[in-house]
Amino acid sequence: ERRAALAASTGPGATADGHKVPLLANVGGPADVPAAVAAGAEGVGLFRTEFLFLDDSENAPSEEKQIAAYRQVLEAFPEGRVVVRVLDAGADKPLAFLTPADEPNPALGVRGLRTLLDHPDVLRTQLTALAKAAEGLPVYLEVMAPMVADRADARAFADACRAAGLRAKFGAMVEIPSAALRARSILQEVEFLSLGTNDLAQYTFAADRQVGAVSRLQDPWQPALLDLVALSAEAARAEGKSCGVCGEAASDPLLACVLTGLGVTSLSMGAASLPYVRATLAKFTLAQCERAAAAARAADSAEEARSAAQGVLSGE
Ligand code: PEP
Ligand code: MG
Repeated sequence: ERRAALAASTGPGATADGHKVPLLANVGGPADVPAAVAAGAEGVGLFRTEFLFLDDSENAPSEEKQIAAYRQVLEAFPEGRVVVRVLDAGADKPLAFLTPADEPNPALGVRGLRTLLDHPDVLRTQLTALAKAAEGLPVYLEVMAPMVADRADARAFADACRAAGLRAKFGAMVEIPSAALRARSILQEVEFLSLGTNDLAQYTFAADRQVGAVSRLQDPWQPALLDLVALSAEAARAEGKSCGVCGEAASDPLLACVLTGLGVTSLSMGAASLPYVRATLAKFTLAQCERAAAAARAADSAEEARSAAQGVLSGE
């Protein structure tokens, strides 16, 4: 029965009553593209670009090398959306030539967009390469910055995109609680939000994502995390803009329904999860997802939130 349900799970993501929720893939490079296409991804919601920077410990990759890699991914989704994240160096993704070696708390130091604003040449090359890679392709290119903390960060990123001549939508990842709390102000500078729930959980609960001993606090079902998702989605709706999720949270089918109920507009995940999320979302109406979301937010722990949502969706 499960196999039949998955086989029937094709086409665009939508709830049982037809509310569309584009289901996108997270890719870490061109090698991940075939699985994303095979799983019916409607595009890419998170193209992590760090892989390009791992070969050489002293230099950033050339513009030519970047253009070739970006083009491979963009070409795979004609008429689809591809959301590229600019380099997210530092903390759990250190790069020797960019990441300061002497920080006591790298996760709270110069990482993500902060690194790029300290190395404007690296950002400029990446944005120029993206602009050239997308030239002449029918793809909807969107480019987003990791670790945006406030409106000034969002403006600096949007300015860099415009200066590079990028004809794309510019967005901000919401990975820091300040960005969720002031999402409307950030949306004055950019056209979309994408929630990185892995880092958002880390910073909300002061729980290092690399430390197993605090993994309980990394659970994306934590009601406090759901509150920040809701704040971001409400801000985007008020501004007439989109707010997706590209963290691991989107790959949990039940949680994907809850995120939809919170107002999230797209879900991006590893290709392997796409059929399960598509099949589960198709079983429930938007109103049911909204009721499950409200029940989860009313809970006091991740476990309670999960069983409250399960209860609503199984009609208990
Ligand atoms: C996240 O933080 O949720 C995210 C999508 O980015 P990464 O896991 O690459 O930090
Ligand atoms: Mg992140």
